[in-house]
Amino acid sequence: MRGIEGAVKFLEGAKPESLDDPIANLDDQLRKISEQQFMMATFTLGTNETPSSRNLSDLHPQMQARCLALFAAYEEKYPAASKPFLTQTYRNPADQDTDFAKVPKVTNARAGESLHNYYPALAFDVAFKKADGGLDWDPGLFDHLGCLAPSVDLNWGGSWHSFHDKPHFQPANGNVMYSWENARDGVEPVWTQEAGAPSMVNAPSMVNEPIVNNGVDHGNPAAI
Ligand SMILES: [Zn+2]
Repeated sequence: MRGIEGAVKFLEGAKPESLDDPIANLDDQLRKISEQQFMMATFTLGTNETPSSRNLSDLHPQMQARCLALFAAYEEKYPAASKPFLTQTYRNPADQDTDFAKVPKVTNARAGESLHNYYPALAFDVAFKKADGGLDWDPGLFDHLGCLAPSVDLNWGGSWHSFHDKPHFQPANGNVMYSWENARDGVEPVWTQEAGAPSMVNAPSMVNEPIVNNGVDHGNPAAI
């Protein structure tokens, strides 16, 4: 349920006393629904009918909040640096298998073995854009952004021991690695910060910007 439609459904099912002045209560009702969506958001293995995406809205709501908080924290700390933007949120199973088959190898994950393959997605990848719109693959940018991940309840692929996946972010899960098997089994990540916490609001609108294809091989292993 979303927006007004959700509010109407909520009001239809509400107790009579809350209907004394539905208009006055509307904001509260909408807020409750929004909170319920955060609490009840579930995910499942995605299908090929859903196109792969780099839209924020295709992330799990908890991950949306953390992504925005991450970008906001980066903007606050490095206001003059190249800006991060999303390159992948949901990746459907067919595209995952296409990536798996690539030579040279770009990923060890088959369909279902990546947190990107669940919907809404439990992982996102980023790249950086210079002020002139060109892509910026300076590894230091990824390091700067990645170091902020724990402060917004995220785990950064660049911090992994076995394989460094610098563009990749996923749930911190209380500092216990959250696996695709967890996602497959429907185990919700541990969210140790409230999605609406002060550090997670007032994010700038720097997501969903177009990727500038300037022929640069971005080197993103698109790994996990
Ligand atoms: Zn990734």
